[in-house]
Amino acid sequence: MSAWESSTQDAGSNVNWREILSSEVGDLSSWSTPIRPLAQKISNGERLSLEDGLLLYSHPNLPEIGRLSNCVRVSRFGKYAFFNSNVHVNQTNVCVLACKFCAFRRSKRSKDAYALDVEAYIDDLSQYADFVDEVHSVGGLHPDWGVEHYEAIFSESKKRFPHVSIKALTAVEIKHLSQLSNLSYKETLSRLKSAGLGSLPGGGAEILDDDVRAVICNGKESSSEYLEIHRSAHELGIPTNCTMLFGTIETIEQRLMHMIQLRELNDDTNGFQCFVPYPFLPDDTRLPEAQLATGSEILRTIAISRLMLDSIPHIKAYRMNIGDELAELALQYGADDIDGTVQKESIMHLAGSTTPLDHDRIRLARLIKDAGCIPVQRNTTYEKFEIFVPPEPKRRKKLKMANL
Ligand code: SF4
Repeated sequence: MSAWESSTQDAGSNVNWREILSSEVGDLSSWSTPIRPLAQKISNGERLSLEDGLLLYSHPNLPEIGRLSNCVRVSRFGKYAFFNSNVHVNQTNVCVLACKFCAFRRSKRSKDAYALDVEAYIDDLSQYADFVDEVHSVGGLHPDWGVEHYEAIFSESKKRFPHVSIKALTAVEIKHLSQLSNLSYKETLSRLKSAGLGSLPGGGAEILDDDVRAVICNGKESSSEYLEIHRSAHELGIPTNCTMLFGTIETIEQRLMHMIQLRELNDDTNGFQCFVPYPFLPDDTRLPEAQLATGSEILRTIAISRLMLDSIPHIKAYRMNIGDELAELALQYGADDIDGTVQKESIMHLAGSTTPLDHDRIRLARLIKDAGCIPVQRNTTYEKFEIFVPPEPKRRKKLKMANL
């Protein structure tokens, strides 16, 4: 089978994945003593608890955690790893808030502030529209833009580029538009959906703990508002992703409670398709107290996400943030998706990301193959899938061997 379709709810997961878990986990005696009870739970299809998550964070053998997370990943998706063809168009960097970790926002009077009107947005998108099937659009909270501005952008985009799915607006942007336009969250989302919005990207969750939020993103939506906005989207049939920004000031327990709140919401709504854990990037921002995550901590967090989030299908290794090399490795630590070709991106690059933006499908597919997986191109909402076979690379020159 080289191409197939899935329901939005399953998002491409093997529908019988829980039945395969025990054979993937295998003989329990092959696991270390502390991990064995967790392997047993996974094997039985049981949910891991907060205490299990704490144990996973303190367990010294990281490859063993990677191995356990890979059992779940393989049960759901076999060797498949997913990517898509997308572009990021950030509609404005003008923002009424000033989250401490954010290197992107500008005040309206800043010299490098910008705000794309409908024509400028379409101009930007038109440069990439022939090569992509998704536009990812998030931006600042512009003080003058109500829901009408986004309705105009989305409906014109759909008119000009009907094949491009619009994945746009984080929960705080929905809250901002609701307030400016005096609408409920559901009314706002419903109008945007009618104008062409296809899904929400899930950014802005940061850590769902209001004490942490008060320090790193004061004024943003509260934890319960983030969950309520995503619940509203799911109830309207708008699928969403969810994220976690880690490595600022949060505790391990707060990370795990973040995951638990997301999986419990998805028990009710089944509308989250993908979880995207990404570390805080320190450059050029204002959070000197951040506990920056190391490479192994990033892999551990991705692996634990896979193990804790049994109700969310996909775990994304967000290459724009963690870089191609770590994203490739993360495919062996529970992740099954490496995002898209991207082409153009501002938010992570202003915060210090050096991930290249010129990747085409062939380069992404080779990256996936190098990780031992089968590259599969998906659409935005994980309903359409096609195996992508990259051409063999040109023969590389052999390194000259020293004459020993
Ligand atoms: S993270 Fe978003 S809401 Fe916060 S300052 Fe940056 S653009 Fe504004």
